[in-house]
Amino acid sequence: MRDNYDVVVVGAGPGGSVAAQTAAEECDVLLIEKRQEIGAPVRCAEGVDKERFLEFIQPDKKWIASEIHTYRVNAPDGAMVELSGEAIGFETIYVLERKLFDRELAKRAARAGADVMVRTRATGLIKEDGAVKGVKINRLGENFEVRAKVVIGADGVESQVGRWGGINTTLKLEDIESCAQYYMTNVDEVEDGVIDAYFGSVAPSGYAWLFPKGEKTANIGVGVLASKLDGKRSVDYLNEFAMKHFPDGQPAELVMGGVPASDKLKTIAGNGLLLVGDAAHCGDPVTGAGIVAAMESGKMSGEVACKSVRQNDASMRVLKEYQSKWHNTYGKVQKHNYKIKEFHANTSDEEFNKVIRELKNIKLGETNPIHAATRLLKANPRLLLVIRHLLYRGTHGYRLG
Ligand SMILES: Cc1cc2nc3c(=O)[nH]c(=O)nc-3n(C[C@H](O)[C@H](O)[C@H](O)COP(=O)(O)OP(=O)(O)OC[C@H]3O[C@@H](n4cnc5c(N)ncnc54)[C@H](O)[C@@H]3O)c2cc1C
Repeated sequence: MRDNYDVVVVGAGPGGSVAAQTAAEECDVLLIEKRQEIGAPVRCAEGVDKERFLEFIQPDKKWIASEIHTYRVNAPDGAMVELSGEAIGFETIYVLERKLFDRELAKRAARAGADVMVRTRATGLIKEDGAVKGVKINRLGENFEVRAKVVIGADGVESQVGRWGGINTTLKLEDIESCAQYYMTNVDEVEDGVIDAYFGSVAPSGYAWLFPKGEKTANIGVGVLASKLDGKRSVDYLNEFAMKHFPDGQPAELVMGGVPASDKLKTIAGNGLLLVGDAAHCGDPVTGAGIVAAMESGKMSGEVACKSVRQNDASMRVLKEYQSKWHNTYGKVQKHNYKIKEFHANTSDEEFNKVIRELKNIKLGETNPIHAATRLLKANPRLLLVIRHLLYRGTHGYRLG
């Protein structure tokens, strides 16, 4: 095993693989993954916004399970409104097969020249004079030290790399969605091309979902704000939800995991160190979506890491360009979406019922937007805050998804 690289990337999720691929186009890169299989187990509902996704990769039928054009929003009292993608600003959502997709991204990193190792866990960082100089690794039971000019921590929501590097990545309970999901089959309610989202006490301060995967099969899950679990586990909410809505469904897989639902993390770079994806809390605080955000931050980090190698200076002076770039683009959207999340987190069942019933009466996309906004504001004046933040986001042209 080599003991020296320009860049070591810890974690082969979407963030790590895209960081490794980008950096490997110019630098010497090692990508390590602690699991024995990249992409498994899948802890994800696997939905991505097509428009943003296409900036990275052309879709391939092998790892796209379905294409979504219709969104059904379900109120606590059973009212339901069907919205087209156009009406809510998404052309299409792809539901991926992440087992295959994550592997495809790792392959691309390898083809760009990165060395890829599985069953290889980072156990600590090599630090000298206040700077990160490499990674301590356990590979198949043996310990190694690998020196690097830059270490990219892409080790997900439970990231240790940031903490080892002195960056406080602790999430408050009110900033984590606690998720549980069945990959469930024999679900008669699955409709191709349609996503269902359920709001209210079914998943306090979060939502429950059905993402179709074809043949009466779907990802069916809940995300509950950890501070609102109220003595229950997310899997308890999932069981109640699944039993009520899909009584004949049979689970083939259960996954549980946390999703950051926070404002942007202030520090995502240090001397010799960059954090990306969930490790840097890059996802959308409203939807919990973080796949494309991980890829975006991965790409930015790979580019800046190579620049620092070229300049032979991996100090914060050069690496902070990554932090500024994230904060000045998607970080701004995160800030506004965080405000929307706070609104959502404090909305009662009655308020959801009223707004969703009003949405049902308005033909979004056809009704004059001012009239639509006025009617929604009548149903819930607190929506003014959401409209303000949505307008801001619109003017900046970036979307988190
Ligand atoms: C139930 C659920 C549903 C979700 N649904 C969606 C959705 O529909 N759409 C969406 O966009 N997002 C969704 N997400 C979020 C999405 O899964 C993450 O945002 C995304 O995977 C983040 O990518 P990442 O590369 O930052 O981290 P990850 O994909 O978590 O990858 C991190 C990798 O690092 C590895 N690793 C960790 N520690 C070490 C170590 N010490 N050494 C070596 N390797 C290590 C891990 O094994 C893992 O492979 C969901 C999450 C959950 C839990």
